Amino acid sequence: MRYTLKRNRVIVFLFILGIAMPGESKAQIIQSIILHAKNTPQSKDPAIESKINGLLKQMTLEEKVGQMAQVSIESLGSIQNGNFVFNQDKFKDAVVHYKIGSILNTPGLQTAQQWNNIIEEIQNETKGTRMKIPVLYGLDDNHGVNYVAGSTLFPQEIGQAATWNPQLVFNAGVITAYESRAASVPWTYSPVLDLGANPQWPRIWEDYGEDPYLSSQMGVAFVKGVQDPLGSKEKLVVSLKHYMAYSDPKSGHDRTDAWIPENYLREYHLPPFRACIDANARTVMVNSALINGIPTHINKHILTDILKKELGFTGFIVSDWQDIENVYRRDHITKDIKGAIMLAINAGIDMSMIPYDYKEFCTDLIALAKEGKVSINRIDDAVTRILRVKEELKLFETPMTYLKDYPKFGSAEFEKASYNTAAESITLLKNTNNILPLPKNAKVLVTGPNANSLRTLNGGWTYTWQGEKTDEYAEKYNTILEAVQKKFGPEKVLYEKGVAYNMAGKYFEDSIVDIDGAVKAAAGVDYILLCIGENSYTETPGNLNDLTLSDNQLLLAEAMIKTGKPVIFILNEGRPRIMKRIEPGAAAIIDLYLPSNFGADALADILTGDINPSGKLPITYPRYTNSLAGYIHKPSEGDGNPQGGDFYPQYQFGFGLSYTTFEYSNLTIDKNIFSPDETASINVTVKNSGTRDGKEVAELFVSDLIASLTPDVKRLRGFQKIELKAGESKTITFKLSLKDLAYVNTDNKGELEAGDFKIQVANLNASFNVNKTMTY
Ligand code: BGC
Repeated sequence: MRYTLKRNRVIVFLFILGIAMPGESKAQIIQSIILHAKNTPQSKDPAIESKINGLLKQMTLEEKVGQMAQVSIESLGSIQNGNFVFNQDKFKDAVVHYKIGSILNTPGLQTAQQWNNIIEEIQNETKGTRMKIPVLYGLDDNHGVNYVAGSTLFPQEIGQAATWNPQLVFNAGVITAYESRAASVPWTYSPVLDLGANPQWPRIWEDYGEDPYLSSQMGVAFVKGVQDPLGSKEKLVVSLKHYMAYSDPKSGHDRTDAWIPENYLREYHLPPFRACIDANARTVMVNSALINGIPTHINKHILTDILKKELGFTGFIVSDWQDIENVYRRDHITKDIKGAIMLAINAGIDMSMIPYDYKEFCTDLIALAKEGKVSINRIDDAVTRILRVKEELKLFETPMTYLKDYPKFGSAEFEKASYNTAAESITLLKNTNNILPLPKNAKVLVTGPNANSLRTLNGGWTYTWQGEKTDEYAEKYNTILEAVQKKFGPEKVLYEKGVAYNMAGKYFEDSIVDIDGAVKAAAGVDYILLCIGENSYTETPGNLNDLTLSDNQLLLAEAMIKTGKPVIFILNEGRPRIMKRIEPGAAAIIDLYLPSNFGADALADILTGDINPSGKLPITYPRYTNSLAGYIHKPSEGDGNPQGGDFYPQYQFGFGLSYTTFEYSNLTIDKNIFSPDETASINVTVKNSGTRDGKEVAELFVSDLIASLTPDVKRLRGFQKIELKAGESKTITFKLSLKDLAYVNTDNKGELEAGDFKIQVANLNASFNVNKTMTY
């Protein structure tokens, strides 16, 4: 069933309004928010608190437990003639009898109007209950409101991160919230803040890449875009997910155990969550897997001690799909579901994404409360948190929003925002002898399994859970072939599939269609656009046993290279598939990631030079299957190992070319010696030394040279994307709070040790000294 159906700070406000402080860029403003505002408890509104206390006092245990239950919509009805129709018995049983607090998921693609109808029926039904508490509906908006027909879809998060432009991510958040409200849905299960640390993991493309700092910047921009100002009819609440370390399992496979000590959890996986909690994120979804053998859903230390107490989170924690049950069924921790419910609720879960058998959940939790195994205080705390979020959303006053009040839904203005994001995300990885951009009268062959597919441009979480119906639903948008035909003229473009995905089978299956046909066609063209990569997938069905590009695609690439025509690789893939065997034969390589419905148009504009590419890799692109370390690693894992060793990925984190060139000069730091509580001011001048206008990302890396816990070789501590006309120069400033250079020691405390630090911006280096050791 699941497989087929599923699917304040003033400065911030100024930034949102586009009113940056004089002399400071927007990127700098975001930077200071994240780095200086840690562990301040989220605020509570006294008026809301008193209202929910009043409600709580009137509620029975059954009503409270109902609020903690979340049910998936497909268990309450079915699609009939294209419309979702509730099975009235089941619907009333859940909403009226069990008084469930939340519903999620899609019953199959619906229009915004159809969503209005579904949610209106739900909210009307709640009016007949004693407490009249509205249901909170939630959807996965991974890249726009992807379960609502006609909405504006954005590049998946990995592409959004590749823009290195938080403003674009903020815009995507604003539009996602607006379009979700047009469909009456006030809660989104995004952003994904898992670190893309392990390229084997099937959901790496759903997140903002492998770096904690970049993920924090992008996550905060998205949260602000979606939530602020909270309570507005154009805003939603977010759910940060999947808290935490879900993305770094030892096996590389979905929903499996991660072996990570707490100081590393805090050093790498916690910061994006902390930054977004600090930006007032209202809900958090839990890591579906295990850390150090403990299912995260029963990890009280992680859920209650760290998230609720230490970070001061006042919103609510929702489980992931069926994950309380998994504690019993999958992880063999308890002998029945009831035992799992007890552990999970006591650990700090406030709402269970059950998602089907709500009767069992409610009955067991009520019994546990009566037996004293789950305290009433814990239940009251969970319900208070849930009601707080419902109040903050003003759901009691306005349980419904309607499409008619959202005239910009699916508008050209929103489509342009998606196009702009795609255009800034696409990353030029190789351009031998400046073969790109192509002359506008070029004759090209378009080939490969990704050449004529909107499914592959979008990836999973597109109209359906696995994205398998995208070609049907997104027909009006351009595939790569169609965009290239429009750009160069149909008579200049030949097409041969060469290799095709098995559209009905496992996502990683493909077969040879006609490689000889492609070779013959190549004879008549100037260039070959080889469109390769992956088909759509997500979660466990997306597990993979070999990160190398498929055998058939390698054969097609080799045949194309052998023709002697310049071959331009167009990579369209969720995770970096290894291609070292064919890479030397590429004249140019462009990484699209999963750029969505306007990605092919943006690509065509980049091919002809109408857009100058400016994306940079938010991940490390590996060269070898046995060397998957990211850029964050210890000296022993790379060139610093005296016994030999190397770090030799195909492409480095942060890498990406342009059609122009940039020169860096005058890297200066305002002082040589700092005390640990100071902020360093770092200047560097960037010049566009080529002949085209372009955008450049200045990346600041810092290395702690000697530390009691082996330091990482280098860490990203700042970045700014700037636009420079040909010949133009700009001097930019990074503000670096030295506290942020502290590493997390084995007592789980931040520690900044006295000593020397090196900074690096592009090919320039400088150094400074910290004069005192400090523990935070
Ligand atoms: C996924 C979550 C998603 C949830 C609800 C789970 O299987 O792991 O990312 O939010 O389903 O659809």
